[in-house]
Amino acid sequence: MQAYLLGLPLYGREKIIGVMVLIRFGGPEYKDAQITLATIIGSWVSVLLNRKVHIETDQILSTLQQKVQLQDDFVATISHELRTPLGFIKGYTTTLLRKDTTWDDETKIEFLTIIDEETDRLTQLIDNILESAKLQSSTIELNLLPLRLDSLIRDVVVRVQARNKDLRIEVDLDKVPPIQGDNIRLTQVLDNLFSNSTKYAPGSNVLVRIKKEKKYLLITFSDEGPGIPNAYLPYIFERFYRVPGENNRFGSGLGLYICNQIILAHHGKIWVESEIDRGTTFFIQLPIENTA
Ligand code: ADP
Repeated sequence: MQAYLLGLPLYGREKIIGVMVLIRFGGPEYKDAQITLATIIGSWVSVLLNRKVHIETDQILSTLQQKVQLQDDFVATISHELRTPLGFIKGYTTTLLRKDTTWDDETKIEFLTIIDEETDRLTQLIDNILESAKLQSSTIELNLLPLRLDSLIRDVVVRVQARNKDLRIEVDLDKVPPIQGDNIRLTQVLDNLFSNSTKYAPGSNVLVRIKKEKKYLLITFSDEGPGIPNAYLPYIFERFYRVPGENNRFGSGLGLYICNQIILAHHGKIWVESEIDRGTTFFIQLPIENTA
């Protein structure tokens, strides 16, 4: 059977981007009016294809712009965060080294304590940056072992309490079955939540609970601080996200991002609820049968 072919070029902005081919098996031949109609349809198809390319290019551009924006924010946040502790360290060291003044022991200890604390902050910040860069390119590696979370929480609380005498921590820990978990990583999550509550809810009570819920363990971690406005809640686990207006408090927006990655690697879930002037509660759900 003879095939009659009609090929029509599809035009992009500067070049031909394809061909529309019409085939009529067994004839008759295409007439002039049909060729004109096919040419019109061909130009419509070209327009539609060009629009699709345009939309895709727009999407790629806007993703790139977001990435550039995130990188700019990152550089701005990190240089500010690095500069603050460095400024303290430099300032107090220069003061202590001044030849024209002598400092009594109490003042020396006060200055050295500040230098010590600021160095710890710097170390923590650099660790977080390195960690988050690693997490971008790979998932977290866990060292899974049978773990009693109620005992782990108790140990963390004793340690945190020893370091922050003023912090009032209440615990309500059910005796829960062991899970497969990474001791160091889960300790890191709790440390981070404690560090946030001392930072953002200073002077508040902190209540830590654990209980079993069907196939999961549920940790709740609540403070009675100023809370987080609803509008910002969906973003606080994002990398580098800080609630606007937090610039005067030390931080890089990496803490909760890292917590989330650790909990996800355990096949668990972390989320937050918060009420202005009432406080903030973080929930962590971890499967008892971990298949990680
Ligand atoms: P960072 O503390 O370095 O800013 P995080 O990822 O730990 O970063 O926290 C993200 C943001 O969530 C913080 O900037 C802060 O605004 C908010 N946030 C976290 N924990 C609390 C809390 N307990 N109370 C109020 N705000 C909090």
